[in-house]
Amino acid sequence: MIAAFQYGREIGKETTMGQYPKLQMYIDGQWCVGSEGRSQDVIDPATEQVIGQLPHASKADLDRALEAAERGFQVWKNKTALERSPIIRRIADLLRQRASDIAFIMSTEQGKVFSEALEEIEKGAEHFEWMAEEGKRAYGRIIPARSNGIRQVVMVEPVGPVAAFTPWNFPAASPIRKLSTALGAGCSIIIKASEETPASCMEVVRACVDAGVPAGVINLVFGVPSEISEYLIRSPIIRKVTFTGSVPVGKKLAELAAQEMKTCTMELGGHSPVLVFDDVDCTKVVNLVAKGKFRNAGQVCVSPTRFFVHESIHQRFASEFAAVASGIKVGSGLDKTSQMGPLANPRRLEAMEKLTADVRMRGGKVAAGGERIGNRGLFWRPTVFVDAPDEADVMRTEPFGPIASIVSFASFEEAIARANSVKYGLASYLFTRSAKTAARVSEALQVGMLAINNLSVSPPEAPIGGVKDSGYGREGGAEGLMQFMNVKYISEGHLD
Ligand code: NAD
Repeated sequence: MIAAFQYGREIGKETTMGQYPKLQMYIDGQWCVGSEGRSQDVIDPATEQVIGQLPHASKADLDRALEAAERGFQVWKNKTALERSPIIRRIADLLRQRASDIAFIMSTEQGKVFSEALEEIEKGAEHFEWMAEEGKRAYGRIIPARSNGIRQVVMVEPVGPVAAFTPWNFPAASPIRKLSTALGAGCSIIIKASEETPASCMEVVRACVDAGVPAGVINLVFGVPSEISEYLIRSPIIRKVTFTGSVPVGKKLAELAAQEMKTCTMELGGHSPVLVFDDVDCTKVVNLVAKGKFRNAGQVCVSPTRFFVHESIHQRFASEFAAVASGIKVGSGLDKTSQMGPLANPRRLEAMEKLTADVRMRGGKVAAGGERIGNRGLFWRPTVFVDAPDEADVMRTEPFGPIASIVSFASFEEAIARANSVKYGLASYLFTRSAKTAARVSEALQVGMLAINNLSVSPPEAPIGGVKDSGYGREGGAEGLMQFMNVKYISEGHLD
């Protein structure tokens, strides 16, 4: 790891110490800063102090990255899946070895608690392992031929150099999903990581480089997002666009990609409904979902957000949930006693303030939280709204923060209609003991993912993604690998 300066905080008794690295891009096998010398500050959300200088890529830097990705693609696709696999597996080994260093960096630049950052790296290692193996199973098909002497073959091949854009909420996991899939499929990739949380992705790229990924196959750039995405997507070298982020930006990038006829994977926002029926153990469900709700301070696209609870248990559910939320210890992610860190950037703090003011104005109840903690560091109290009307902003717009909104329903039909009433369709959750209810809800919800009586929707082997405004395409699983491949049909005969 490149050591720039010693960085640590002394909040609480047990504080994790480490180093925040010097920020660099990685282009054509070289670590570098931008050729025009432009840069911006990177902030620690727990202290609001500047912790690093992010170099910006110039057009000349992007051209170098594009040329490198074109060459890197030839190198990587000409290796067999069996040759690629051990290199990809080595990345997983290196990530595990470096997990606590990278977790320190992530917690510092993004705010999440150290244990969650550690888990993100450890789970990320599994993604590389999974794609290292799945690349070997990129099977085609032989179709029974129409006549003797003909072979009808369907083969899959890597789509080409990929442009990837990743957000700040999972600064390692989101890049890892895109990098592991590109490597598994035989593609090269240019990744623009979030300008607010760049070092986590930089360390993941470093693990890829140290594991032996050849020069040009992975290129990492930073800078003004709209400039970089427009330049890369318009380049004829790029054959695939993959983006994780907000719906409006996703739509812009999809439009750009459509003009160039490039395939996209769009993993956009969500506003996950949680349906809780009256046949469950209320306390058990509250304890499970409240923990999931406040993970990463709720800045998760699959975060449970709209809780529809059967009217017979709604009051009890809401008061138990509010008690759990009020008991969560909020503090620096590096303080080992913290259970929730700060919000990642000032935009989230402002959004929480607006949602809270709106719900109050519309007559909803704030049963826990609803305010900032102190005035230094972007800390927000875990918040629970009860009985927000359906027109309230919190019921229509993704909160992307530590806010749970709990409302009641009377019938199955009502719960489904309200759950489906928003423009999003990413993740959803159901709690019931009834197999019949589970089957009916599975069919009726307009979503890409449903977890029944648990909260797990994104292991490496499963396809994640959405419907409606939440995007299209899938990441993870066999489906995710196929998004980075083209299908080619070959009809093979003989002249003799
Ligand atoms: P935003 O849309 O401005 O930025 C989201 C991410 O997209 C950032 O990492 C940014 O670098 C990138 N981005 C922005 N403009 C871009 C462009 N033209 N080209 C390429 N990348 C671009 O929003 P924000 O304020 O950072 O986050 C707010 C909303 O974004 C949240 O409410 C949430 O809905 C959504 N979001 C979703 C995810 C997800 O996992 N799906 C992650 C982060 C943010």
